[in-house]
Amino acid sequence: MRPALIVIDMLNDFVKGALASPTAKEIVPNIKRLITKARSLKIPVVYLCDAHYPGIDWELKVWGPHALAGTKGAEVIEELKPGQGDFVVRKRRYSGFFQTDLGILLRELGADTLILTGIDTSICVSLTAADAFYRGYALIVPRDAVATIDPIDNERALSYLKKVYGAEITTTEELISRLDQTK
Ligand code: ZN
Repeated sequence: MRPALIVIDMLNDFVKGALASPTAKEIVPNIKRLITKARSLKIPVVYLCDAHYPGIDWELKVWGPHALAGTKGAEVIEELKPGQGDFVVRKRRYSGFFQTDLGILLRELGADTLILTGIDTSICVSLTAADAFYRGYALIVPRDAVATIDPIDNERALSYLKKVYGAEITTTEELISRLDQTK
């Protein structure tokens, strides 16, 4: 297994701002642990970040203004700041693959498995999972490292990811001990 850790939309607007998920804060320590572990094992860490163009992006018609490019709301939260050697991919749609360089980046990194973390399990995580599945990536989702804007959607999204894309649903704890063993 050659994994990449994907951190989706852990931005100020989704954790504390315009579209804050009430459970987002709970997953921060788990994602932090996964990032620290990945860096220590030389597993690439890739941040997928909404960066919308005001007045242009179609998604804003549905959700209203959020994560506008260049604003504080579009920055990764302080606790999970990208470090040297991490990758940041900006996106204007739900899927991290749509019109971004994520595909070529993952190919160059030699990844075959994506560990998906972040927000929203039923939207950006699920739609990035769909595009990853089409491209033949294995998927791992630690259930305590993903959250939804409406908490009621989280369990449903996790079973959907498992059923439709064959995602392995695990926990941060289990995944960390497995990553330690496989290295
Ligand atoms: Zn968005």
